[in-house]
This record gives sequence, structure tokens and C-alpha cells, in this order.
Amino acid sequence: MVETELFLFKEAKPEDLILIGKDFFGRDVHLDKNTEIAWNKMYQAAKQDNVELFIVSGFRSYEYQQGIINRKLAKGIPLEEIKKVNALPGMSEHHTGRAIDFTTVGEDEVLTERFEETVAFEWLTKNAHKYGFKMSFPRDNKYGFIYEPWHWCYNY
Ligand SMILES: [Zn+2]
Repeated sequence: MVETELFLFKEAKPEDLILIGKDFFGRDVHLDKNTEIAWNKMYQAAKQDNVELFIVSGFRSYEYQQGIINRKLAKGIPLEEIKKVNALPGMSEHHTGRAIDFTTVGEDEVLTERFEETVAFEWLTKNAHKYGFKMSFPRDNKYGFIYEPWHWCYNY
């Protein structure tokens, strides 16, 4: 068994978060203030290129993440299985308010590897760095997380 390093992501302070609107599913989305500024620029630039980016998920609190885990445990899913797809509280980059999960037009299902086949992914790969965003979990990443082509994070 391989020892994976423990990575902890700090939860954004409430005063650094702002409500930016609704996500793809109509839920409130909060992002870190500086991330919101960068996201707006990137969103507009993508739109200019006829690429639609929709947010599936932004900031998530430790408490919210714990809730996801608890609901799955209550269904009898073993923690080892849950950990493969859900970060434990403290281990999700979404706690920072700087990570965004994207979807775009024409996806049958969100947050699958098939996002890498979309025009939006191609656009992000070429342009996201100009706005300070990068894909956090490429294939075989150091975190030991699954490949997440939809998950991009803003770095100051
Ligand atoms: Zn994510």
C-alpha cells in the first residue's frame, strides 16, 4: 500500500467570499473575491470565442463536505470507496473558494472524464492560464485524486 501525503486546504474566510449567482443546478455559488474577478474575465473571453462555461461547483465549506460523506456512510458505502470520489473534509480544494468545476453545453452528464472531449476543455487548456487558472488534478497527479478535467483552480 502506498502512503499518500496528506494535503489540507484552508477554508476561505467568510469575509473573502462573495455570492456570484447560481450554479448550473440553480444553487448559490460563492467564490473567493479575487477568483471571482478572474473568473468573470475568463468567462467573457470564452464567450467571445463562442465557448460557454457553466459552474457546477465553487466554494464548499468543511461542514458541507462532511455532510456529503455522512450521507454516503449512512447509505452503507464504505469510507474507502467514498474516498475515491469525494475528498474528506479539509482535503477538497473547493474549501479555498478558488476552485471551480465546469460544465458546458451538450454534456449529458456533468463531472465526467468526457469533459476533456469538449470545446470548452480545449479552450481552457489553451487559455485558462492567462486568467490565472490551472487544472489541479491531471492524470497521475501527486494528490492521488482521480483525473478531473473539469476542475480548475485560481492561483494568485
Ligand atoms: Zn472540483
